[in-house]
Amino acid sequence: MIEYENLQKLNKPFFEEFTNSFKATLNSGWYILGNNVKQFEKQFATYCGTKYCVGLNSGLDALILSIKSFDFPKNSEIIVPSNTYIATILAILHNQLIPVLVEPDIKTYNLCPNEIKKNITKNTKAILPVHLYGKVAEMDEIIEIAKNNNLKIIEDAAQAHGAKYKNKKAGNFGDIAAFSFYPTKNLGALGDAGAITTNSDEVYEKIIALRNYGSLKKYNNKYIGFNSRLDEMQAGFLSIKLKYLDNINKHKRQIANIYDTYLSDNFAKPEKSTNYHDVYHIYNIRHKKRDELQKYLLKNLIKSEIHYPIAPHKQTAMQGLFNDKYAISEEIHNTTLSLPISYFHTEKDIMKTCEVLNSYLKI
Ligand SMILES: *Cc1c(COP(=O)(O)O)cnc(C)c1O
Repeated sequence: MIEYENLQKLNKPFFEEFTNSFKATLNSGWYILGNNVKQFEKQFATYCGTKYCVGLNSGLDALILSIKSFDFPKNSEIIVPSNTYIATILAILHNQLIPVLVEPDIKTYNLCPNEIKKNITKNTKAILPVHLYGKVAEMDEIIEIAKNNNLKIIEDAAQAHGAKYKNKKAGNFGDIAAFSFYPTKNLGALGDAGAITTNSDEVYEKIIALRNYGSLKKYNNKYIGFNSRLDEMQAGFLSIKLKYLDNINKHKRQIANIYDTYLSDNFAKPEKSTNYHDVYHIYNIRHKKRDELQKYLLKNLIKSEIHYPIAPHKQTAMQGLFNDKYAISEEIHNTTLSLPISYFHTEKDIMKTCEVLNSYLKI
């Protein structure tokens, strides 16, 4: 069986270093907001090329706090891709603001600049591009639109650790960026974890307070804050994993290259372009008979996944919120299929997957 993902196998090469870090943290007796968190924040900011990183307890919280930090007035609208993972939209709703779903480009799966322009109103306060599947959104044009309309940019970089656009890394394009270190992400912890990156002193200070009850000075509460701290154990593991992130991304890019080369063009494959350095959190193809194809793969002992099976506007939790039709998003949700692309997969696994997929076209 070729698995889609296996976190034990993915992390196996790091077990010894993780164990040493666990013991050191255990022995330190310091488990919250200590040296591990400080060190990881410094390292991840350096990696992204940003002035600051703040460790938080999840990607969803990173998005919620990012939006919160701007104190947008009631009824403000935030533009978000209609095909994103639900967390992006939840973060807007938890701030009591209005998510405006905008259709993506069917080739890049990312926000389409022309569609953004059409959806700007007097209430629009921010654009929330999602660097989906590990490809940075069309940031030059998005930054231009934001400037012309006085909008903030909040990046959802949860799937794009190390991804680049014109040689600049995800997390370094907006006013703030949210990252997730959920175990399956390119940079994954051994539990829940997240972070923001920013180049703004003001935003940095606000997030530092918001993650810790709104307090900058102990028992002095400046804001209505949260408890959303990255813990010392996870920070220790993340510092280790960060050293290998470029290797992990390189491995995923090599796998993507095999799919690009050997998979039939009858499958819609991810777009590649010279301005982009994609990190393939997910390698997806699209096919009209997606469900049948997935069954055929499983019959041939290959597991695949669907990211995502239900469009956000069709979720039960979102009933009554979105009245428009989102045809491109629905097309993606109905036809997309994610292929194995983990750090532990071998060239042989991927060649076998290509062979089985191509053979489906002949039946
Ligand atoms: C994983 C993910 C999140 C949420 O991160 P968590 O750490 O699971 O809360 C948000 N946005 C996107 C695009 C994601 O892939």
